[in-house]
Amino acid sequence: MTRTARDHAIEVRNLTRVFPAGGTDTVVRANDDLTFSIPRGQVFGLLGANGAGKTTLVSQLLGLMRPTSGEIVVEGIDAVNRPDEVKAMTGYLPQTGLSMRLVEVRRALHYTGRLRGQGEADTRRQTAELIDELGLGDVKDRYVDQLSGGMTRLVNFGMALMGRPKLLVLDEPTNELDPHNRRLVWDMVSRRSAQDGTTVVLVTHNVLEAESAVDQVAVMNGGRITAMGTPGHLKEALGDRIRLELFVRDDHPLEHRERELFGAVGTLTEGKRDGSYLVQTDSARMPDLMRLVHGELGMDRVSDFRLTRPTLEDVYLTLDGRSEPGAGPEPGGGPDADRTPAGAGAAGAAATAAVPAAPPASPPAGPAPAAAAGAPAAVLTATDEEAPAPAVAEAERPAAAVSAPRTGPDAAAAAAVPAAPAHGIAARVRRMGVDLKYLWLEQMLEVRTTWSWVLMFGLLMPAAMVFGLTRIGNGLSDEQSLLFIVSGAAIFSVANEGIGTLAQRIGVLRQDGMMVYYASLPISRISFLAAMVFSRLLLILPGLITPMITAKLMYDTDFVISPALLIVLPLSCMALSAIGLAIGTLVRSMDLLLVIVNLMIFVLLLVAPVLIPIESLPVPLQVFGYLLPPTYAAESLRLALMGDFGTTFLLNIAALSAMTAVGLAGANRWLRWRTA
Ligand code: ATP
Repeated sequence: MTRTARDHAIEVRNLTRVFPAGGTDTVVRANDDLTFSIPRGQVFGLLGANGAGKTTLVSQLLGLMRPTSGEIVVEGIDAVNRPDEVKAMTGYLPQTGLSMRLVEVRRALHYTGRLRGQGEADTRRQTAELIDELGLGDVKDRYVDQLSGGMTRLVNFGMALMGRPKLLVLDEPTNELDPHNRRLVWDMVSRRSAQDGTTVVLVTHNVLEAESAVDQVAVMNGGRITAMGTPGHLKEALGDRIRLELFVRDDHPLEHRERELFGAVGTLTEGKRDGSYLVQTDSARMPDLMRLVHGELGMDRVSDFRLTRPTLEDVYLTLDGRSEPGAGPEPGGGPDADRTPAGAGAAGAAATAAVPAAPPASPPAGPAPAAAAGAPAAVLTATDEEAPAPAVAEAERPAAAVSAPRTGPDAAAAAAVPAAPAHGIAARVRRMGVDLKYLWLEQMLEVRTTWSWVLMFGLLMPAAMVFGLTRIGNGLSDEQSLLFIVSGAAIFSVANEGIGTLAQRIGVLRQDGMMVYYASLPISRISFLAAMVFSRLLLILPGLITPMITAKLMYDTDFVISPALLIVLPLSCMALSAIGLAIGTLVRSMDLLLVIVNLMIFVLLLVAPVLIPIESLPVPLQVFGYLLPPTYAAESLRLALMGDFGTTFLLNIAALSAMTAVGLAGANRWLRWRTA
């Protein structure tokens, strides 16, 4: 059947992505002129050794990375220029853990649904369905970070499925899962693709497992696709071959004469375990092989044997660029060997095979060319019109997956359409409000377990500062000194929680690879940053108020407590938090970040007009002081406590507002929503 562009969920044309190769003029071509299409409703496996370029490719498909050149169209949308629209229809399960670790399982699913643009009723319904389908009922009220690695992976898989996305990108979805849950995941993937027409891009090293799950496979090597087709087609490319895995009883090696006999029938390779062998040969030699096993060796010498057709792993090992041409796979580990994931020993296995490897070639646009010399025809990289129909793979898929219509308009229509990105100002503002609410809730819930310590610090630190500083020398209990000590202690507290904690929080999110979760959602960066800032307000405010209470209790001060404090206090929190965010997003090294933050809090504040009257500072420090937001926060707090709401007060408020805006704009600019 000839497919048209309308049947394709993903079309990639001449996609190239290069990275500078650290310190030299050369570049790494992580993706090198890739051209291919994925029909709608297919499960598309992306295989390849470490560094082959798989992550780079999916990052670009998801709009998380900008290509150096080339085009990506996802469901008719230009993914390079309209990434948010692609994110709205895509569920992504990265290899690294997702965020939402310190919330309950049901909340992680619910919040993800809302952040992906689903309505409340639909989100609740789907959350309940997914908890049921994934068997998470017993743990739905537990924090995600208290679950085992496998259960966490299941929750993350559920988060990727929220909103019934048209496109699912799954990076090693069955890592850490037990066999039962692996089966569950593959069944759910098959159901989504068969019944909803969901297109699934599956990145995996687990070739044996992928074989039963995928319709079409692309093998990547050195940034290029070296083979693409259904598993059946790719295996056919190895020729009419059979493979015998042989395990000799008690792990005894074959004798010299026996080796010669097997070697005469096919290619004999030793397995990793003593007494295990792989023999590969033409299927016509099957009777000879059986005769050798049964007649020459005798069943008393044989502990176990398996006679199979070539596996997808054989294809992969032939094409991944690391095996010798003519190399084949290792035999399985033994009679009881787990033939799933790592047991495959895939890429690292040195082996022998009889089929020449296809030369690296990027799939050309238009009809595939005639087979390159030595390259089996089915290993040709298929493109739009040439994409092999999934017929072969369908024969190998679970019945449930085959029975329902897989592609075409019906299936596309069956897929629940996720909420489209909001258009129009009112809709956008509403959407940003929802994003802000759920991101804020997540941040607030994340500090549930530590808030009492944060609060204690916020109360004790400023109180201790007031107590200690007012006892320096002969005591600084005059009204003027008290004002500086109270405002200085308050601003130190805000700087610590706002600048310090937020800068480090962004650094940790980035370092742990969790930023990719937020970046893969169709949310605005501003909502994310604003949620971060607002989540600090409640934690910071007590630290701002404590110094005033301490001073009142110790010295019965006569400060003016006016409604203006309702502006000064939150604005100070926001300005300093925004600066913290900007630093956290700008500085990439965690170590440098810590140095800068500590410098700002403990060194710069002590030589700025925060605790010290400006006239007591040398002119350079006066000028320098007015570049720092804490100066304005401290001065506006002092003026408010004195009841002086004149021009200077207003200028300070304006400066704080401007610094909040500049900090947020800087963080918005520097936050890597798109990696590299
Ligand atoms: P793995 O299976 O190990 O995850 P992969 O197939 O996903 O590998 P990529 O992560 O896409 O491979 O990397 C492809 C190549 O691009 C590698 O050589 C890698 O070093 C390089 N690369 C990827 N990201 C960057 C980056 N940000 N800067 C420089 N080089 C990069």
